[in-house]
Amino acid sequence: MIPFSPPKIYQEIIDEVADTLKSGWITTGPKTKLLEQKIEEYIGALKVLCVNSATAGLELMLRWYGVKEGDEVIIPAYTYCATANVVRHCGATPVMVDVNEHDFNINIEKIKHAITSKTKAIIPVDFAGFPADYDEIMQLVKSEQIKQHFVPENENQHKLNRIFVLSDAAHSFGANYKKQKTGTLCDATVFSFHAVKNFTTAEGGAIALNLPQPFANTEIYKYLNIISLHGQSKDALAKTQAGAWQYDVIEAGYKANMTDILASLGLVEIKYYEKETLPKRKAIFRFYTEKLNEQQWATLPPYETETKESSYHLYPLRIKGISEQQRNAIIKQIAENGVSVNVHFQPLPLLSYYKNLGYNIEDYPVAYKNYAHEISLPVYYDLTNEQMQKVIDTVIDVVNNVLKNA
Ligand SMILES: *Cc1c(COP(=O)(O)O)cnc(C)c1O
Repeated sequence: MIPFSPPKIYQEIIDEVADTLKSGWITTGPKTKLLEQKIEEYIGALKVLCVNSATAGLELMLRWYGVKEGDEVIIPAYTYCATANVVRHCGATPVMVDVNEHDFNINIEKIKHAITSKTKAIIPVDFAGFPADYDEIMQLVKSEQIKQHFVPENENQHKLNRIFVLSDAAHSFGANYKKQKTGTLCDATVFSFHAVKNFTTAEGGAIALNLPQPFANTEIYKYLNIISLHGQSKDALAKTQAGAWQYDVIEAGYKANMTDILASLGLVEIKYYEKETLPKRKAIFRFYTEKLNEQQWATLPPYETETKESSYHLYPLRIKGISEQQRNAIIKQIAENGVSVNVHFQPLPLLSYYKNLGYNIEDYPVAYKNYAHEISLPVYYDLTNEQMQKVIDTVIDVVNNVLKNA
């Protein structure tokens, strides 16, 4: 069976993790802080805080902006549940909008119509690693016409004086937008380093800060660092200094810190990410695209345009003109032939919790159509040429077969 996205675990990673275990420093410490610096250098962000998941990072940032009950946060209907769940955790209302047909990303016109005086934040998602339309989103929130409806309710909201743009870049670590990396394109960006993502620390994530003047990103970093560990004024590292046992608690903070065991994986991966990991993933995308281009029924994902380059996280193939049932039958047959594929994502209004809150999939026709036609193909570093060929042969055979018998 060709798996869908196994992690790449090699000796250097095992050695680095073992080194951490032997050092006796297994929670947040020097390796986590070093990984933060490496990520800052790599993406060119002002300040990066590592956390234990993207979910925690997104929630921390919404809380930092004071998002609460009665507020609205605009998100795409086509995403993983985490994007909406964190809004619910804050007691606010996720306002779901439909997506673009061509790239699955949040639609700008739909955002415009969803903005109200209760809107406090927008969370664009870089689906499959392909960046959303950041310039258009930033222009929109900065326009006088939109800004005049914004109702600031706390210090940070007064300072920014507009809708906060928080990117869910769980898929797009290393992606480019107009020659800049994700993490530098809006107010704050959150990456996921979960096991199935491009860059993994098993579980983990990072917040990249890029707030405009008069915000001081270093000060916000320090604050978030404290809030990600119970609001404790000193972390474990600071407390190791001789005699420095005493600390204060400034707020009822969260428990979202990354550990050095996890950071060890990241420190090795970041060495190879730009030069080996991304080129390999790109080669897989190119191979699939070349082979599937000839198929009349195939809609292929964008991954490299004049202004954007994907991080090649997911390869969302779409089959034209099929029903959801036919798509499911195709997936079943592909699996029976030894290839694991997947679907990204079930639009949120299809999930019980959100359906029961009153979200209706009929309000998101593009999201539904993209979902019903979608099959994600395996993309990972250790995928061999033979396996890539087998994926293509199997997909083409099965789809032709299903279409013929339709
Ligand atoms: C994986 C994922 C997340 C959550 O990441 P965690 O690190 O597991 O919290 C959030 N948003 C999207 C779009 C994802 O795919």
